[in-house]
Amino acid sequence: MSRGELDRRVFVKLAAAAASLSACTPTPGAKQKHVAVVGGGIIGASIAYHLARDGARVTLLERGSLASRASFGTFAWINATWAKQPRTYHAFNQAGLSGWKRLQSDLDIPIRWGGSLEWFPSAERQAKLVDQIAEQVVWGEPARMISQDETAALEPNLIPGTPEEIAYSPNDGAVDPVLATQRLAAAAQQSDATVLENCDVQNITASDEGATRLETTCGSFEIDDIVLATGADPNAPELLGGLPIPQRSTPGVIVITTPQPRLINRIIVAPGVHIHQRDDGRIVLGEQDGAPDTQAHSMRLRDRPTRFPDPLIAEQHAMRILEIAERFVPGIGSAEIEDVVIGWRPLPIDGHPVIGRSPNRSSVYFAIMHSGVTLAPIVGELVAKEILTGITAKNLDAYRPDRDFQTTRRY
Ligand SMILES: Cc1cc2nc3c(=O)[nH]c(=O)nc-3n(C[C@H](O)[C@H](O)[C@H](O)COP(=O)(O)OP(=O)(O)OC[C@H]3O[C@@H](n4cnc5c(N)ncnc54)[C@H](O)[C@@H]3O)c2cc1C
Repeated sequence: MSRGELDRRVFVKLAAAAASLSACTPTPGAKQKHVAVVGGGIIGASIAYHLARDGARVTLLERGSLASRASFGTFAWINATWAKQPRTYHAFNQAGLSGWKRLQSDLDIPIRWGGSLEWFPSAERQAKLVDQIAEQVVWGEPARMISQDETAALEPNLIPGTPEEIAYSPNDGAVDPVLATQRLAAAAQQSDATVLENCDVQNITASDEGATRLETTCGSFEIDDIVLATGADPNAPELLGGLPIPQRSTPGVIVITTPQPRLINRIIVAPGVHIHQRDDGRIVLGEQDGAPDTQAHSMRLRDRPTRFPDPLIAEQHAMRILEIAERFVPGIGSAEIEDVVIGWRPLPIDGHPVIGRSPNRSSVYFAIMHSGVTLAPIVGELVAKEILTGITAKNLDAYRPDRDFQTTRRY
C-alpha cells in the first residue's frame, strides 16, 4: 500500500470515528467548555482526543514537539503483568489494554499484539514468578508458565538459557509511541482541537472578571479548565497547579535499530534487557537496570538530558545493551543502531498515577503517571468524562492528587 493510500485510509477512518461520536457533542447553543491540555505526550494527546471527541473546545499545548520526552524515550510495552499491584491498579491497566484495542481500530494505530515472555536467572526469583503468574490467573489474565519447547515454538530465535519454564502473558502488546501520539493529536484536530507545538505554558492568572488565563510563549488564552499532562517536569505541578507532586523520575536508555528482517514476534523480558520488534522491523531495546548511583552520574544527569553528551558514548551504551540482548537473541547484536535516547519516567513516589483536580486550584486537573503508554486510552476516556460531566469516576479514587504519598519502589 502506498503512503498516499495509507494517509487517505487513515483520514477516512478518523473522519468516521469523529462522525460516529457526534452523539456526544453538546446541544446547539450550549457553551462549549474550553479545556487547555498542557503537555503533548501520549497522555496529553489521548486526553485531548477524548475531550474533543466528546464535544469540548480543546487546545493542546506542547513546549517542544509532540512525543518528545517520556513518550519518545519509552519501551512502550502495553501490559497488565504481575508488577501492576495491587489488584485495583492491575484492573486499571487491563482497562488500558482494552482501550488500545478500541483506539487501534478507531484511529488505525498499528499495535503488535502477541504477548510477552519473561524469566529470571535465579531459581529463587523464578519460584516467585510462578506464584505471581498464579495470582495473574486469579485476576483474569490468561498468563501461564510454559516449557522451553513451547517457548521455542513461539519464538524460534530466542534462547532463554537455563530456566525450565518461562512466563507467557499472551495479552500484551507494544506500540510505536510517537506514531500513536501523533495519531491521537491528529484525531483531536479532526474534532476541531487546536494543537500548538513549541509553546511553553508559563503561568496561570485570573482576569479582572475572574476568568482563568493561561500565559504562554505563544499567547494568552482564556480557558475553563487546564489539564496538566506534563510528565516528569519537576516544576509544572506546583507552578501551574499550586501543588507539588512528589516524583522520583528515573532515567532509562532506549535503543532503536534500523528496520531488520523479522527476528522476534513477542515482547521479550529477559534478565537485564527488554526487547520487542515493531511492525516496521525496528527493534526496540530497553535496559532493565538504571544508571549507577554514583556522584559522577548524578552530576551528568542533573539536567535530565535525553541524549548522551556525544555520539561515541551513545554508541557505547547501545553496544552494551545489544551485547546483553545477543545472549538471548543471537544475531540481534549486528543490527544497525538508528537512535539512542535517555527517557525520564514520570514517576510519582508511590508508583501510581496522579489523576484529578488540584485541591488548591479548582480549574487545574492533574494527569501524571508512569505506565502511561499502557494507561493512555483509559486515562483519556475517564479524564474527559470527569471534566465534561463533573461526575467522578470511582476507579480513579485511589489516584487523587491530595492523597498521602508514601515511597514505594515499584519500578
Ligand atoms: C525508559 C522508559 C521505559 C518505559 N517503559 C514503559 C512501558 O514499557 N510501558 C508503559 O506503559 N510505560 C512505560 N514508560 C512510562 C511511559 O513512557 C510514560 O508514563 C508516558 O510516556 C508518559 O506520558 P506523558 O504524556 O505523561 O509524558 P511525556 O511524554 O513526558 O509528555 C509530557 C509533555 O509535557 C510537556 N511539558 C511539560 N511542561 C510543559 C509546559 N509548562 N508547557 C508546555 N509543555 C510542557 C513536555 O515537553 C512533554 O512533552 C516508560 C518510560 C521510560 C522513561
